[in-house]
Amino acid sequence: MIYLDNSATTPIDPEVLDAMMPYLKEEFGNPSSRHYTLAKNAERAVEEARENLASLINSKPDELIFTSGASESNNFVIKGVADYKKYYENSGNHIITSKVEHKSILQTCKFLSGEVYLNKEKNKPKSYVPRKVKSVKVDRGYDVTFLDVNEYGQVENKSLDEAIKDTTILVSIMWGNNEVGSLNDIKSLSSLTREKNIRFHSDATQVLGKIHIDVKQVPVDFLSFSAHKIYGPKGIGACYIRNKMKDTPNIDMTALIHGGLQEGGYRAGTHAVHNIVGFGKAAEIAKREMKEYNSKIIELELETRKLLKAKFPNVEFLGDPKNHIPGVIPVILPEIINEMLIEKLSNDVAISSGSACSIGEPSYVIEAIGKKIFSNNFIRISLNAEISSKEICNIIDLL
Ligand code: PMP
Repeated sequence: MIYLDNSATTPIDPEVLDAMMPYLKEEFGNPSSRHYTLAKNAERAVEEARENLASLINSKPDELIFTSGASESNNFVIKGVADYKKYYENSGNHIITSKVEHKSILQTCKFLSGEVYLNKEKNKPKSYVPRKVKSVKVDRGYDVTFLDVNEYGQVENKSLDEAIKDTTILVSIMWGNNEVGSLNDIKSLSSLTREKNIRFHSDATQVLGKIHIDVKQVPVDFLSFSAHKIYGPKGIGACYIRNKMKDTPNIDMTALIHGGLQEGGYRAGTHAVHNIVGFGKAAEIAKREMKEYNSKIIELELETRKLLKAKFPNVEFLGDPKNHIPGVIPVILPEIINEMLIEKLSNDVAISSGSACSIGEPSYVIEAIGKKIFSNNFIRISLNAEISSKEICNIIDLL
């Protein structure tokens, strides 16, 4: 089996697994218990992981909180800022995002704008993908703008600028798109909102460890991450919150998970120490190996694109040819029907027709970039640095 779906998730790095194991065995202490060695060891491990992640994005460790993953981080930032600004500061109710964000952004924004989906299907099969849902409206008092994107799926400065209102409190634009791989110019988009004192969030899930992120150079207020996209474990992620010390109470956003004082009260609940340690180790490796990893993966990507073009003269590569996530190859192959092909190759190759979170639905990203008629011909190949050129040749033959 050749695994070409690294945008959906990555295999766990053996070094990460080794780092995690003691925290599933003998080092099982609860870091919040603090006063005895077992608890102190766990607390130290959590803080070391936070330092490793901070070092990868050049933030202070205190500016990071651990969550269960990017979906939670995205929900937390959007709901947390929206709630605080509207109910505590009374400073506005307008949120701006784009049409090609991950579902955990889109659905959160739709929720705030008052859309509620009621599932009306009975006798659901086991692997259920809801298709028939009834949409109703309630008034939650938020106003959301979903920006159009260019042909590569990127948000243009001009369209963000024009959408900003006096009531705008938050802008959320992803750093790298999970289906077409294009990178947004987050530095200039976030500079635009900084001038106007509007909070800026970016879902950086697909770019962590793949491109250089430096929060000292890019004026974002919030970032979201997931460990399992960088060879870490599933079920753990983080949220970067600029200038918010973990040990101070929430000052301008509301917590999502209320309860104990873990993560400064932003995110209650006993730490998943083993997962946090795994995330920290994955971040350490990403920092150490990013240069070498990228040069390998870029070479492999160029080779794959060349072979695809030679075998399928009608191939169309989507996304920004220059500014995209290394190793992501989004293609339209007019000769194939994506889901049939994926099914047929399922024992030999793991490949995807888009986002794992939208499986079974036509891709709204492909629609937003004006390629809706090809949504059944779209596949996303996402590489990792372990794949060999020979494997790539074999796959293209199989296709
Ligand atoms: N945002 C983006 C851009 C993603 O690709 C994903 C993972 N598919 C997520 C958010 C959600 O990550 P998780 O499933 O780990 O919560």
